[in-house]
Amino acid sequence: MFDVDGTLVHRGPDGRGRPLPGAVEILEAIRASGRRFVLFTNGSHVPAWELARGLREDGLPLNDDEVITPVESALTYLRRHHDGEPVMLFATPATRKRMADAGVALTDDEDARVVLITHVDGTIDLAQLERAARAVTRGAPLLTGSYVPGYAGANGLIFSRGAMVTAAIAKVSSTRPKVVGKPSKVAVDEMRAYFGLPSTELAVIGDDLDLDIRLGRMGRSRTVLVRSGTTGAIDIERVPERSRPDLVVDGVADLLDRL
Ligand SMILES: [Mg+2]
Repeated sequence: MFDVDGTLVHRGPDGRGRPLPGAVEILEAIRASGRRFVLFTNGSHVPAWELARGLREDGLPLNDDEVITPVESALTYLRRHHDGEPVMLFATPATRKRMADAGVALTDDEDARVVLITHVDGTIDLAQLERAARAVTRGAPLLTGSYVPGYAGANGLIFSRGAMVTAAIAKVSSTRPKVVGKPSKVAVDEMRAYFGLPSTELAVIGDDLDLDIRLGRMGRSRTVLVRSGTTGAIDIERVPERSRPDLVVDGVADLLDRL
């Protein structure tokens, strides 16, 4: 499992990904070896297949079904634990459509049995935040794609609007949100279901200790930290033992001779 940004691509100010050295070659080599891979990104503004298409245009040799996002792991979780129950969703129009197409019963009423937040754009209605908080107070789980403060953009940190909305609802309902993207038990389950393998047989490769390496450690997968992204020049000796990756490399190109 590969992370995307900082691991396989760097994004320019135009939002397009530029493949990092070795990114194309490592995916081709894994495919040629008969093994499978998947990309797991916490991006949730568009459906996974659309992210896959964009990355393919940027040069990565990907099929539409080789990207997982919190939207996909949330769908799997909802099917398994809240099948048919009404869901209040804070999301982009594209993600709303993906959820509705997948058969999720969407509602804006406070009788929602689940509240789910992914990437949000545009205007947030305070009355709807209140309805969400009331639903959570009555026992609806508060699910969120990501709860980290932000993500690395071309010009520095971009605050996570999804995390802002989640925090607003969590605060007034005195609830802890359940993360469905990286890192979480739900995300581990999603990888396991995707490959049909125990997570102990997977390698998780990414640039972020708090997201990717933590996800890998939760599933007791092999973990590889690449220095090509956010973590950069970190002194791994100063990272607590329980949070350390199994392997640290400068970039995915260094993995070519380890396959
Ligand atoms: Mg990353």
